[in-house]
Amino acid sequence: MKITEHLSNAKKTLFSFEILPPLKGENIDNLYNHIDPLMEFNPPFIDVTYHREEFVYKKRENGLLEKKSIRKRPGTVGICAAIKNKYNVDTVPHIICGGFNKEETENALIDLNFLGIDNVLLLQGDAIKTESVFVAENGGHKYASDLLGQVVDMNKGKYLDEDLLNANPTDFCIGVAGYPEKHFAAPNLKTDMKYLKMKVDMGADYIVTQMFFDNKKYFEFVKKCREMGINVPIIPGLKPLTTKRQLNVLPRIFYIDLPEELADAVEKCKDDKQVRQVGIEWTIKQSKELVKFGVPVLHYYSMGKSNSVLNIAKELF
Ligand SMILES: Cc1cc2nc3c(=O)[nH]c(=O)nc-3n(C[C@H](O)[C@H](O)[C@H](O)COP(=O)(O)OP(=O)(O)OC[C@H]3O[C@@H](n4cnc5c(N)ncnc54)[C@H](O)[C@@H]3O)c2cc1C
Repeated sequence: MKITEHLSNAKKTLFSFEILPPLKGENIDNLYNHIDPLMEFNPPFIDVTYHREEFVYKKRENGLLEKKSIRKRPGTVGICAAIKNKYNVDTVPHIICGGFNKEETENALIDLNFLGIDNVLLLQGDAIKTESVFVAENGGHKYASDLLGQVVDMNKGKYLDEDLLNANPTDFCIGVAGYPEKHFAAPNLKTDMKYLKMKVDMGADYIVTQMFFDNKKYFEFVKKCREMGINVPIIPGLKPLTTKRQLNVLPRIFYIDLPEELADAVEKCKDDKQVRQVGIEWTIKQSKELVKFGVPVLHYYSMGKSNSVLNIAKELF
């Protein structure tokens, strides 16, 4: 079922979460152990992230360095199908521009369609760690909007091969990312939102936000979206803090601010166990306020650790 159908059928705020595919070599049972306790709260869908290759240099016997491409977390499509099969829940694979040409993207979308996966979250994708800026693949897409154009075409039965006659149209429900605190590469929020509006005008059905720790940022973002004529559902993404280190790491990686009150509370913690408790309480407070605001879904970035999200879900759902 499409995310938009889940949302319009919902009688109250729904619960959903995002997981990462296991590291290469890990057993999928670890992931199931993480998902199992969260199923009690009836998530209508689970997002599965996509992770690009990384390049590492290995020293050969002759002393020369060899550049090797490594995919640490493959398996997004397989995991989506496995979860859908095991739990009878919808899954949302994240599809990225980086690392794929259009042909490969089309083939992946055909696989997803055959597997009965109705939703995709379309993203530019993170730059490779060894590249300072995102570089599009030869024959691939640069922006999420370009990728969206391809999916919208397929939803109209238009595939890359122009000679293909009477091709079956796909029917993907399309999600895109939005940034209440601006995407790091955008010169300002207004410009960033102009491109967000472009994605919605082109056919995106809903938006999922980057994590934020101050609800005011989300409320202002939604207000601005509505003023600009962005009228699709805007799903808030929330992440419970779990370590003191994240005070510095999250702002650096995700270009977000942590409110003073939260940062002070975390600073006072003696260990990460205490930080986890602060993170849970903060996210519960955020969640309750967002429910009052009338958000359609609370979407949690669980990062493969269910404990905090489980405690939050117990309070709310
Ligand atoms: C909810 C969520 C889930 C994510 N999941 C993943 C994941 O699974 N895997 C992963 O690798 N990354 C993931 N990311 C990270 C994401 O890939 C990065 O934030 C990336 O840098 C931007 O992606 P985007 O789709 O928002 O990009 P875009 O919409 O392409 O925007 C990128 C930048 O370009 C600008 N821009 C957009 N369109 C145009 C245009 N036509 N012309 C000029 N400028 C333009 C925007 O303002 C922005 O600054 C996720 C992010 C979010 C918020």
